[in-house]
Amino acid sequence: MDIKPVHKATCHCGAVELALTMPNGLEDPRRCSCSMCRKRGAIAASVLLENLKVVKGEDNLTLYQFNTMTAKHYFCKTCGIYTHHHRRSNPHQFAINVACLEGVNPYELEPVRITDGINHPSDAS
Ligand SMILES: [Zn+2]
Repeated sequence: MDIKPVHKATCHCGAVELALTMPNGLEDPRRCSCSMCRKRGAIAASVLLENLKVVKGEDNLTLYQFNTMTAKHYFCKTCGIYTHHHRRSNPHQFAINVACLEGVNPYELEPVRITDGINHPSDAS
């Protein structure tokens, strides 16, 4: 897998384009079992907040929130593809949709670890 110093990610229609800096390559790609992720089905990898720039289509992104309304899930309002979200479990990170990365075949990453999103770390007391 060829991850560039600044890697391009796009939604399906191309309205939204992200520039990602991933010094350690694809970091911790995983699926999650929470109510949102199990329907979305995407494999997410981690990117520090400062390492994600919306190059194009900021105004074409729609925000979805649920439950504690902490995480911010973004998707393209034209093609509906989930591009990234601001994590609840780690506010210093975005999670990005691995399938949006240019030249990356998400099926080559299987089997992917599944994290327990039902028992969310932020819910533990
Ligand atoms: Zn789109």
